[in-house]
Amino acid sequence: MRVDVVSIFPAYLEPLGLSLLGRAQRLGLLEVHVHDLRGWTEDRHRTVDDTPAGGGAGMVMLPEPWGRALDAVRRGEGPEGPVGSAVPARAEDGAADDDPVLVVPSPSGRRLDQRLVRELAGEPRLVVACGRYEGVDERVLVDAAARYRVLPLSLGDYVLNGGEVAALAVVEAVGRLLPGVVGNPTSLVEESHEDGLLENPAYTRPPVWRGQAVPDVLLSGHHGEVARWRRQEGLRRTARRRPDLLNALVAADPSALDAAE
Ligand code: SAM
Repeated sequence: MRVDVVSIFPAYLEPLGLSLLGRAQRLGLLEVHVHDLRGWTEDRHRTVDDTPAGGGAGMVMLPEPWGRALDAVRRGEGPEGPVGSAVPARAEDGAADDDPVLVVPSPSGRRLDQRLVRELAGEPRLVVACGRYEGVDERVLVDAAARYRVLPLSLGDYVLNGGEVAALAVVEAVGRLLPGVVGNPTSLVEESHEDGLLENPAYTRPPVWRGQAVPDVLLSGHHGEVARWRRQEGLRRTARRRPDLLNALVAADPSALDAAE
């Protein structure tokens, strides 16, 4: 998968080079390019914002640098020209399914969840456009829809200063699902949200710590009992912390919890 991120704070994305995602890039499992939006400005001050049409507080990101940036990134270019692996040109017949997904972080976007993460992990190319200030001029998204599948995406119902934290979250959540990135793929399917539930509590050594013992069943060696305990504890935790998830699971499939009996 190739990911391009456009931001006025490229340094914000440096953690993408660390840990598992850094290793994934060194192994060629994931390709990430971070671009400075200001590289596509044409004035001396490298201006990327202006006052909002209609007045009001704050600033809005200008369409011109964003338009140039998204055109170039679509072709696999940064401000200085081609970067990374070659990208397929847009099909003449406008086969929109082949267009990269343009992730536009926004508090008014679709809420990111594990289902969407899985969808995105199946894409060969993502481009993330990190807004700042009051956001990006709306015409940029309308224009980009001719070359991208535009996906306004929210991390949750709160407001951040910019889209970079959302870019980090998307690339990390998606990147860890790519084949080979996480050493033991079984750990991916056993995680919270994969089956609509939260994961059970986890324990390790020592068997007793500050007066608290690891549940006996986990030390019993009975795989069937361990699996049953994990399922029940996952259910209990979901009911206590996220009853909305449990309700959604049962609404979608009334027999979803039968195996827990
Ligand atoms: N005026 C915008 C609104 O009320 O919808 C909020 C702009 S916010 C201060 C600046 C940028 O931060 C947004 O353009 C977006 O890129 C990012 N952002 C803020 N909250 C976000 C969230 N919950 N999810 C994803 N991105 C967010």
